Amino acid sequence: MVKQPFLSLNAGIDMPQVGLGVWQTPPEKTTSIVHYAVNAGYLAVDTASIYGNEEGVGEALADRPEIFLTTKLWNADQGFDSTLRAFDQSVLKLRRDVIDLYLIHWPVPKKDLYAETWRTMIRLRDEGRIRAIGVSNFTADQIKILIAETGITPAINQIELHPEFQQHSLQDFHKQHGILTEAWSPLGQGQTLNSPVIATIAKKHERTAAQVIIRWHIQNEFIVIPKSVTPSRLDENLAVFDFKLDDQDMAVIARMDRMNGRIGPDPMTADF
Ligand code: NAD
Repeated sequence: MVKQPFLSLNAGIDMPQVGLGVWQTPPEKTTSIVHYAVNAGYLAVDTASIYGNEEGVGEALADRPEIFLTTKLWNADQGFDSTLRAFDQSVLKLRRDVIDLYLIHWPVPKKDLYAETWRTMIRLRDEGRIRAIGVSNFTADQIKILIAETGITPAINQIELHPEFQQHSLQDFHKQHGILTEAWSPLGQGQTLNSPVIATIAKKHERTAAQVIIRWHIQNEFIVIPKSVTPSRLDENLAVFDFKLDDQDMAVIARMDRMNGRIGPDPMTADF
């Protein structure tokens, strides 16, 4: 099997660059899908308490402690006591004493609890219960507040990012601060797979559209967590380490970025 790339987190640990996302993976199917994926070679899984499938992930990974596991704190659980409680519940469901990466799922600026939540996560990390802590859907200004209030920089910001929504200024901010960019909905929830631009590049390399897009994420040094529940697609999405996009391919995909390319909620206004 081809050696998979890892990226280094500021917490001093390495994270596999490609992982499996399990949002909308039905809880009753999660164990068998995650089991299939890790047997096929996936080295990381991305879940969240709100996905309702942490138990299935935990069951599938019960004898695979080496698989890099990410979960996320849900919005309703922000705040000191509730973060501690939510974390305890996640570790029970996931059957892990230590979580590799724990993220604040959304900032929810209206609640104004994300800095307190961040302090609580730092405490959990300092107690050795989390290897790396990060955020998701945070703006540069919100991350600046976390750093100013605690002196601790998130290891990662997991954000919506795909060829039609590339978030260049946030990417630049991450680079300046040593924060890794993790792309959610990396395939544009499947929509970007129909792009004629991607189809042309895929034909040139005799690869699929999904493989071209995942390759684009890898070569941009993002962490990428495509989701599928179909075994053949899980295999396909991992067969991306034996070819390279050239500079021209990368430049063509860079031009797919659109002002209104966002598919998911806007973190500035998301309040759920
Ligand atoms: P995605 O971009 O990974 O697209 C998934 C969809 O693409 C699948 O449902 C499937 O229909 C299709 N697909 C996947 N592989 C394919 C292939 N090889 N051929 C054809 N079709 C294929 O979308 P996503 O699930 O939204 O994002 C991936 C992961 O990101 C999630 O599972 C979750 O872990 C994470 N995520 C995080 C947040 C957040 O707020 N932090 C939000 C959304 C998603």
